[in-house]
Amino acid sequence: MDERKQRISCEFFPPKTEAGKTSLLTDVTPALQDTLSPEFFSVTYGAGGSTRDTTLGVVSAIRETGINVAPHLSFGGDDENTVGELLDIYKEKGVKRIVALRGDIPSGTGGKSRSVYASELVEFIRKHSGEHFHLEVAAYPEIHPEAKSYDSDLQFLKNKFDAGANSAITQFFYNVESYFYFLDQCASVGIEKPIYAGIMPLHNFANIRRFAGNTGAEIPRWICQKMDSFRDDEESQRQFGFDVVLQLCQTILESDAPGIHFYTMNQVEPTRELFTHLGL
Ligand code: FAD
Repeated sequence: MDERKQRISCEFFPPKTEAGKTSLLTDVTPALQDTLSPEFFSVTYGAGGSTRDTTLGVVSAIRETGINVAPHLSFGGDDENTVGELLDIYKEKGVKRIVALRGDIPSGTGGKSRSVYASELVEFIRKHSGEHFHLEVAAYPEIHPEAKSYDSDLQFLKNKFDAGANSAITQFFYNVESYFYFLDQCASVGIEKPIYAGIMPLHNFANIRRFAGNTGAEIPRWICQKMDSFRDDEESQRQFGFDVVLQLCQTILESDAPGIHFYTMNQVEPTRELFTHLGL
């Protein structure tokens, strides 16, 4: 079999219910593994450590089947001992990759808990676990919503690499130019590590529009206008969203970009359909 040129990975979130967890482990993961054979699945981590146990549970269950899995991790309100213990558990389970984040600041803390920047977490992991983990960090082609400026955000991304990160995964985007420009800008400040494109299938537009508002990801006006024109015609919305994201993926994969990370939202079909049409 030909080696795939570009890396493919998939993201899950830890389900809130037992039924959701069962479905993720017995249906979704095997189906995506069979079709995409991704380099790894990653599992998100709730703000302030709120999903510490569920993330660990899902990661452990996937790992037990021999599949590569990468937990997301942030300090949240935790101390170094708690994070260190979690790293040791992951290492024991054969986890070799971590997505290191500052995480979103949990609501309800009144902003009192100090947030630990991702670069500090990367530094801590390197100190605690040496080179054991491949460390992924987050990158923002359309710039992080709290960033003071484009250039400062870029510099803080560089800090994450200087602290020991191996690669980055971007926030989702629909303006492909923002990604290509960002790659050039990264190169211009000396970032030579791969920056994988985060792709969110557009299968539930109302949700994604809301989500985009919080993350600083822009949904171009022409996409919103077209989606709105379909009103309640879900099939037309689905087909249009599929066409837009398929073209986005094709453009990325035809470039020198290193690969794609799919935000699956724990669903098989939207990602599988894209992947199948990409002919990878
Ligand atoms: P950082 O890189 O630490 O940056 C945060 C902000 O602070 C930026 O505006 C940056 O410009 C600024 N900054 C960085 N360093 C400094 C400094 N030294 N001084 C001053 N300002 C600084 N969220 C979750 O809660 N759970 C998840 O599992 C999760 N997974 C994600 C996966 C990916 C691939 C991506 C792209 C995002 C994910 N997020 C997740 C969202 C992410 O946690 C938020 O965007 C969060 O607000 C920032 O996290 P970060 O790691 O990018 O932070």
